[in-house]
Amino acid sequence: MKAHDTMYIGGEWRPAAGPGTIAVVNPATEQVIAEVPAGTAEDVDAAVRAARAAFPGWAATPPAARAARLAALRDALAARTEEIAETVTAELGSPLKLSRAVHAGTPVRVAASYAELAASYAFEERIGNSTVLLEPVGVVGAITPWNYPLHQIVAKVAPALAAGCTVVVKPAEDTPLTAQIFAEAVHEAGLPPGVVNVVTGVGTVAGQALAAHEDVDLVSFTGSTAVGRRIGATAGGAVKRVALELGGKSANVILPSADLAKAVKVGVANVMTNSGQTCSAWTRMLVHTDRYDEAVEAAVAAVASYRAGDPHDELCRVGPLVSAAQRERVRGYIERGLAEGARLVAGGTETPHDTGWFVTPTVLADVTPEMTVAQEEIFGPVLCVLRYEDEEDALRIANGTVYGLAGAVWAGDESEAVAFARRMETGQVDINGGRFNPLAPFGGYKQSGVGRELGPHGLAEYLQTKSLQF
Ligand code: NAD
Repeated sequence: MKAHDTMYIGGEWRPAAGPGTIAVVNPATEQVIAEVPAGTAEDVDAAVRAARAAFPGWAATPPAARAARLAALRDALAARTEEIAETVTAELGSPLKLSRAVHAGTPVRVAASYAELAASYAFEERIGNSTVLLEPVGVVGAITPWNYPLHQIVAKVAPALAAGCTVVVKPAEDTPLTAQIFAEAVHEAGLPPGVVNVVTGVGTVAGQALAAHEDVDLVSFTGSTAVGRRIGATAGGAVKRVALELGGKSANVILPSADLAKAVKVGVANVMTNSGQTCSAWTRMLVHTDRYDEAVEAAVAAVASYRAGDPHDELCRVGPLVSAAQRERVRGYIERGLAEGARLVAGGTETPHDTGWFVTPTVLADVTPEMTVAQEEIFGPVLCVLRYEDEEDALRIANGTVYGLAGAVWAGDESEAVAFARRMETGQVDINGGRFNPLAPFGGYKQSGVGRELGPHGLAEYLQTKSLQF
């Protein structure tokens, strides 16, 4: 596995200020596969200064020229599909097939969407006797998690570049190699030095330094609610902009008229993908009491085809979790669920392999809304099946957590599903298995976050307005 022992700052690979390193471990083999520099506040400062120096030039670059660089970035990422997929599989443990299609494929689609948006977006509008200019916010600090390592970087950097901002990225410590490939692609795409910088490091050191840096104008963070809360408070104290993409506990609501077999099958796939490490996963399946047993049986049958195994196996559908700590956390939740009265109908806490941080795909039945597993984000391959008595009950349960990131509704009639979705307190709802749309706004209600990513809404996060009166 290729790794840089330097950091991408000001358009070149520079040695870190300090001697610290981070070991990158393959979660399927538990072997150290690389070491990357553990950046410090000094490195963050150098990167922010490079981004600040590059800002006036990039902000003044015509949108069409910014679009051309984004198209080049899209192409540079597309050309590296296999290398990205292999790297994500090595450091995250996601099945190679998923790594190719989603971890490598989605960022190409998102970069492409911003290449188009940069060229077509109206950065100026007329309101009465005013002209409103939409100008870049400035230097962006982007702090990203490990679960979709490249997507989360591109979902911040691409709109920031389209807007005319410059960026310092601090990727998650578990998946820095994917971020280094991204930096190589940035370089190859011909972005001017300093427009994008990547500082590897641990969250409490490099992440904190970036979030608190006084010359960063906007902090865009994706990760846990606990850290997001702290970053929001720091940004609030400094009166600077902040975007937070946090956790979720989304509901998959199967209304009585739905095609139950399909809804359960798609619902199980949604939770098991990426070993359940998806913030928008529909981890609570809500089924009417009359069809509950049928749904549990269907979920058990569906989950049987998700056997945790070697992510390099072309047939593998579930790999390990990213780290030993994450595995222990997930096993702890399964135990807690059983202790609070849930019924284990598939999987459990036993490890399926001696080596690797695997968790057996698990289904918990008889979960009730107040249980810990129904309230807290598990972030592993664990599906909770809950029962409801009527539609009002289903709505109360669906909306009954502090989160509101995503969800799904299934009904025989699309308009019935839409009527229910309108009453859900959440940022995204898939109707009868609707497809992912890279242009649709993605983000949370309630404690799932502040702000939106993707498409024109994602671009707007990186703009500020100035009105000229005539
Ligand atoms: P995390 O919050 O621990 O880490 C996320 C990032 O923040 C990492 O880069 C980390 O180094 C950094 N960080 C950690 N402490 C920091 C601090 N004090 N100051 C600044 N930066 C700091 O989260 P994680 O464990 O990496 O990711 C899992 C969580 O992320 C889950 O809760 C998941 O739901 C959430 N998530 C949300 C979305 C979304 O779009 N809403 C997407 C992916 C993940």
